[in-house]
Amino acid sequence: MLTIAISKGRIYDEAMPLLASVGVRPTVDPEKSRKLILPTSRHDVQLLVIRAADVPTYVEYGAADFGIAGKDVLVEYGADGLYEPLDLGIAKCRLMTADRLGSSLEGRRVRVATKYVKTAQRYFADKGVQVEIIKLYGSMELAPLVGLADCIVDLVDTGNTLRANGMEPRELIMNVSSRLVVNKAAMKMKHQAVTEFIRQLRDTILTTASAA
Ligand code: AMP
Repeated sequence: MLTIAISKGRIYDEAMPLLASVGVRPTVDPEKSRKLILPTSRHDVQLLVIRAADVPTYVEYGAADFGIAGKDVLVEYGADGLYEPLDLGIAKCRLMTADRLGSSLEGRRVRVATKYVKTAQRYFADKGVQVEIIKLYGSMELAPLVGLADCIVDLVDTGNTLRANGMEPRELIMNVSSRLVVNKAAMKMKHQAVTEFIRQLRDTILTTASAA
């Protein structure tokens, strides 16, 4: 049995066509069911539907053989304990700093609201900028509007969420897309099944890319 950990939402929606092309179709709709383990049309593959930030943990500890997670999540987790054989090229966006339109952050200690605490700390430290990081779990855009922080570090796709809240994107921290990650022990113990699955997915991605 191969177990794949994945989060609901954009990553799930964009990963499904890729998984379907290698014969993996969940037989239960996670939007309509409370099941957290989804059987699929391939008797040797099941899906775990979990929070995005938990995907690397399940894979590192071997509770899942594979995971599909954003590069943002993997960098924040520090996923040295995982193999990352494939960029799936889905759920693309950018991790950016953003602040209020027209604001100036010059010359004072900046408060940064984010759920990417380690990544933000590293980014500002590399630039030699002293910041105070405020950990939030969601709706980062709100923080500068109510004086909780001067700026935020968050994912940006179209920029509509920022604009709707009177903010603008500033500096690019990293480009993000979803990656396939693999448990290191599974790579050894289930070598043939794991490498065959990676090969099938890689072929699908290459075919999709050359057709585009
Ligand atoms: P947008 O308004 O299109 O710039 O999207 C920004 C909002 O969507 C923010 O709340 C982000 O956290 C979220 N978001 C954008 N892209 C992604 C992604 N690839 N994965 C997860 N969340 C995303």
